[in-house]
Amino acid sequence: MFVIQVIPLIKDTKINNLSYFSSTNYEIGTFVEVPIRKKTYRAIVVESKPVSEHKSSLKTAHFTLHKLPEQKNISVIPSCLRETAKTLTEVYPTTTGGVLYQILSPDVRNGDYQYPNISSLTHKEETTPQILTDTIKNRYMSYRSHIRSILARRGSVMFVVPNSVDLDYAEKNLMTGIEDRIVKFSPNQTKRERIKAYEAFEDTTIAKVILTTPTHAYLDRVDLLSIIIERSGSTLYKVRTRPYLDHRTALIIHAKTTGRNILLGDILPRTEDEFFRRNEIYYTYNEETKRIAFPTPLTIIEQQDKPTTETPFSLFSNELKKRVNSTLEGRGRVFMYGARRGISPVVICIDCGFIFRCPDSHTPYSLLKTHNKAGEEERWFVSSTSGRRVRASDICDQCGSWRLRQRGIGIQQVYDECLATFPNQPVLLFDNTTADTRKKAEKIITDFYEKRNVILVGTQMAIPYLTKNGTDLSTIISLDATRSNPTWRADEDVFRLLLELREISNKEVVVQTRSKPDDLLNYATTGNLDNFYSDEIMLREQLGYPPFFTFILLSYAGNKNAVEEVESQIKNLAKSYEGNYYSNPFSQNDKILRYALFRLPANSKKLRDFIDIIRLLPPYIKIEIDPSRIV
Ligand SMILES: [Zn+2]
Repeated sequence: MFVIQVIPLIKDTKINNLSYFSSTNYEIGTFVEVPIRKKTYRAIVVESKPVSEHKSSLKTAHFTLHKLPEQKNISVIPSCLRETAKTLTEVYPTTTGGVLYQILSPDVRNGDYQYPNISSLTHKEETTPQILTDTIKNRYMSYRSHIRSILARRGSVMFVVPNSVDLDYAEKNLMTGIEDRIVKFSPNQTKRERIKAYEAFEDTTIAKVILTTPTHAYLDRVDLLSIIIERSGSTLYKVRTRPYLDHRTALIIHAKTTGRNILLGDILPRTEDEFFRRNEIYYTYNEETKRIAFPTPLTIIEQQDKPTTETPFSLFSNELKKRVNSTLEGRGRVFMYGARRGISPVVICIDCGFIFRCPDSHTPYSLLKTHNKAGEEERWFVSSTSGRRVRASDICDQCGSWRLRQRGIGIQQVYDECLATFPNQPVLLFDNTTADTRKKAEKIITDFYEKRNVILVGTQMAIPYLTKNGTDLSTIISLDATRSNPTWRADEDVFRLLLELREISNKEVVVQTRSKPDDLLNYATTGNLDNFYSDEIMLREQLGYPPFFTFILLSYAGNKNAVEEVESQIKNLAKSYEGNYYSNPFSQNDKILRYALFRLPANSKKLRDFIDIIRLLPPYIKIEIDPSRIV
């Protein structure tokens, strides 16, 4: 008889290890089906010992252990994957099973696909991450030569992209001459295509280039020597479900565990990665890129129009309209970038045009109404960027006028204004409501490229779709709206967006702003990445942000009593750690969203100890490591 310990593959579980009796011995890493509270779950064996080796206490208690049913169709995950998952539990407050649940592909998790039996082999490649900073065309040139050199050594490459659009781009730009080596795992595959992909993956007679989104990035092959993370700055690498794993962190650890090299490429890799590169914790792939020269100019239009009786301010300046018209007359295509849907309107004085802004973040305030205990309405100015919430002014700071109005600046307003301003041109809208499936998205993009003199109004989502064929003119209608993104990464995100727009535009990028152009805009105009990074790194050091400190954000919601109770629980558990406790600025009195933010020196023992402590918190407290939003 054996005592088998397993980790159940259950999402969000607090159950760590379970023990069963078994007459059969199962190898560590074997998938098994186990009974838990009258249901059957998939689990992975983490330990197996003959009963005789167990302590006498267990022998006497053995009648409490369930018997593991005889297993059919045995498959085993490679030990390196378990090792990676175990290491990740030092970074994320979860269990090995919790990590495995997120890094195993859904097909493997639910048993549709049996993990191929492969022996785990540790390679001897240089595992220090290498950073490639360049335009997409140059990056793919580098990828092709990198892949060729790995293939020449009979090694396979795992090429990871954030979404399925980039997957198609990668296939087109990497496959020439190596068609027989390409294996693609796409979320849009049919079941048949998926089976074929697995077959090609398992064929180890020749080295392969595996193109995938993060879902299949942890599949293993004996000859896998290299991992490439393309568009490494993309927020899509961060998983939105517990334990909020970051695939970049996970793949870097996985590369180290397996002795593979790993390459991260983007036009603007994350500031953290650049910081590590500058300090030689990471390496530079190819030459260092301090500046990128774009053939397409970036033009800034400072809008200073005065309010009229009809409208507090116009979204399109005359200069912008002129440029759009001339592009359309030349049978060109226009892309208008609009900030995400749901961005709050700004508050503006209709007499002098003054926009109310948060003094900390310089982004426009939005107006929030709440009711106090007496049922009276209270009005607040709220900055979703800094979290600042102050009583709303009744009069203009600038001219003393009482005539304050709200003005929407989100993508819907841009689209509506576009229809009104260019009534005779086709205008397409691309955002999470019109392009919520890949099929609908493709349809809009096909329309855009089938037509000439056409306008596409779109959010960030549209950009990967425009990478292949580009556009003539790109415009950011409101830089203010674009910058009021509730994340401490806002500057990095905006800077990357500006570079990407320059990359996909053939003629010009036009940016409209209502604040004085600052360094960030100047750096984007000159393509000066080096200065941008220097400023950003300095700022993050001053503010105690990543990569200098690690954020651990706990969130919980409820009425006053409920959140107070949770808070005392946290304070009790994390006694020796100092946290900031604050409410989401948009919280209403009856349902308060509270945060407890801890920041600890990155990679410190203190941080690891803290992770161990908060592992014990109940599941209704959301725990995120380095989330992009902290207010
Ligand atoms: Zn005023």
